[in-house]
Amino acid sequence: MILGGGLTGISAAMHLTRPWLLVEKNDRLGGHARTDETQGFRFDKTGHWLHLRDDYTKALIARILPDKMTPVARKARIFSSGVLTRFPFQANLHGLPPEIAKECLLGFIQAHEEERASPGRPAPANFEEFCLRHFGPGISRHFMIPYNAKLWGVHPREITAEWCSRFVPRPKLDEVVSGAVGANPPELGYNISFQYPKKGGIETMTRALIKEMGKQGEVALATGLDAIDLTARKIQIGGEWRPYRAVVMTIPLPELLRRVVNLPPEIEQHAARLRCTTLRYLNLATRSRPKADFHWIYVPEEKYPFYRVGIYSNAVPAMAPRGKGSFYVELSDRGERPELATITRQVAEGLAATGALKGPDDVLFAELKDIEYAYVVFDQHYYAAVNAIRPWLEAHDVFPRGRYGFWTYNAMEDCILAGREVAATIEARLAVQDRPIIHA
Ligand SMILES: Cc1cc2nc3c(=O)[nH]c(=O)nc-3n(C[C@H](O)[C@H](O)[C@H](O)COP(=O)(O)OP(=O)(O)OC[C@H]3O[C@@H](n4cnc5c(N)ncnc54)[C@H](O)[C@@H]3O)c2cc1C
Repeated sequence: MILGGGLTGISAAMHLTRPWLLVEKNDRLGGHARTDETQGFRFDKTGHWLHLRDDYTKALIARILPDKMTPVARKARIFSSGVLTRFPFQANLHGLPPEIAKECLLGFIQAHEEERASPGRPAPANFEEFCLRHFGPGISRHFMIPYNAKLWGVHPREITAEWCSRFVPRPKLDEVVSGAVGANPPELGYNISFQYPKKGGIETMTRALIKEMGKQGEVALATGLDAIDLTARKIQIGGEWRPYRAVVMTIPLPELLRRVVNLPPEIEQHAARLRCTTLRYLNLATRSRPKADFHWIYVPEEKYPFYRVGIYSNAVPAMAPRGKGSFYVELSDRGERPELATITRQVAEGLAATGALKGPDDVLFAELKDIEYAYVVFDQHYYAAVNAIRPWLEAHDVFPRGRYGFWTYNAMEDCILAGREVAATIEARLAVQDRPIIHA
């Protein structure tokens, strides 16, 4: 049984050799990796750029999408203090107003000296401390803290430091000094290039993966999980109870736990502490080609209603009709749903300040969207909760995987790999169970 037909579920179905049933509540597979089209403009569920590190996924994508992907050299920028600077902020202070660049650079040097003078200090207690310790007060104040507060919707002091080791580039002192005087190479950090379908948005990749799903399985669309009984090893879908031998569980973890029959109180307590942010964003179409050439920008300042803005059509022109632009705008406000006209005008004014478009008149249309599960919050309860819940589920042959099933921060490639791994894990476990018992 595969619960959820996003990339993790699709990949599990690709790799399982036994019969499977994939249950997806939506009327289309793909989960977060889908693309919508309006008047010839294409929009993912905000930018879904494919970064491949693993040889297996590189070979897979090359095989199933021959000549259909295009490599793109990343153009990521920061917009703050009225200027665009290179990504990552901490390694590219050049171009900032001189007094801000000086504050950031001196702060970094001071933090660097403190780290050298007192090695072996206890690990930072939270993400704010991590930023102050590794980047100093200036970089923390002008970028790390405000940007991450907008992104996560909670203050960085509520987030643990562990999650960021992979995702927050930590430049060395000489790189920071080089970046402050403009001597760094154009792009630094991980993911300096990515792949993207030449046509059709990220869903072109998703569809190619769907074609690889084995014929020994069955897909039930527009079908949600009703309930699961772990003791009786039964699952209820569409009102009907069915037995299961193993479950690839890729739907959001709280959604599953809510449906478990007789959930033990200690798991219930952990479940109540799982936190995830929602994301509100705009699909935005422009009448003219965007003035700026970046693929996306990070916007830390509170005065702008967005924290990240990307231009699909700058990366791949086919994402918009000729001479026009398609944007995604990730909004920081998670409160009451704003009126579309009001938020579109505010966004257009902000985008005009970044140089990305001429002004509100340049907007052809905008669509306001929500993502219910966007970023898992790594707060102080996170590790205790997942370390209790995951093994408990696996003991009942329910294997949580994927970004929301495993309850983590990951990317599309990780999900494809997780689907392969869980298929192998399940095949191995079932092979042991199927072995005949020989009575001596
Ligand atoms: C804003 C944002 C930007 C991102 N950008 C990138 C990027 O640039 N590059 C990148 O590599 N990754 C990116 N990602 C990450 C990427 O989207 C995920 O890693 C990946 O798509 C997750 O796949 P999944 O199958 O684990 O989960 P999902 O895609 O969420 O799939 C889970 C499926 O379960 C279904 N479901 C939910 N509840 C039920 C139920 N009760 N019954 C049945 N089905 C149910 C859902 O409809 C969904 O189809 C981004 C994520 C976000 C949120």
